[in-house]
Amino acid sequence: MEVRLPTAHGEFLAVGYLDLRSGIEQVALVHGDVPGDAAGERVLTRVHSECLTGDAFASTHCECGDQLSAAMEAIVAAGRGILVYLQGHEGRGIGLLAKLRAMKLQEAGLDTVDANIALGLPVDAREYGVAAGILRDLGVRSVRLLSNNPRKRAALLRHGIAVAEQVPLLMPPGVENIRYLRAKRERLDHDLPHLDGIPHLDAIPGPPDLPRPPGSPGLSGPSGSRAGNA
Ligand SMILES: [Zn+2]
Repeated sequence: MEVRLPTAHGEFLAVGYLDLRSGIEQVALVHGDVPGDAAGERVLTRVHSECLTGDAFASTHCECGDQLSAAMEAIVAAGRGILVYLQGHEGRGIGLLAKLRAMKLQEAGLDTVDANIALGLPVDAREYGVAAGILRDLGVRSVRLLSNNPRKRAALLRHGIAVAEQVPLLMPPGVENIRYLRAKRERLDHDLPHLDGIPHLDAIPGPPDLPRPPGSPGLSGPSGSRAGNA
């Protein structure tokens, strides 16, 4: 089912789906002619994970709300594109209440990765098969993916959607989210080259060197150990 959806960012077609496997309702916003004369190639696409606190309440704990607006604006500016909004992805798939608990642990000094682990929950439980299915249904063969997350690109590839290009979606960091963004860069491999060299943020220390649970992922030792910005 589909319906015209005028927004502050421009006009979209809202296309609704029911994922029969999970029972979760999903929606894609389509702007312009997709697949159009390019036969579904290189469609500017954002696969956005639901974040109630960021998307609806404009929380500055994360950058989700800003990314959602920026992606819709970029798609309208490009003349065509798709936003797939994935419900069931709160807190990288742990759910809303667990995400709130994880945010409380982050206030106490854990980073976003260790907070999930401390709760006995996966660091990232998001699944992208439904997003790939929606894109296929809309006639998309390859995307220019608005994302800083190489794991998202890899997941779409695994599900048969070619990623012709990864288009950065970099939001200016702020006092409230700089630690969170550093953790995403240093522990979850996000491409976030813009976090350093901002004087009032460089002065904010990383989280304390808390004992790290066994099996916790990470490339660069305890978070906060990066001398450059700690
Ligand atoms: Zn968020």
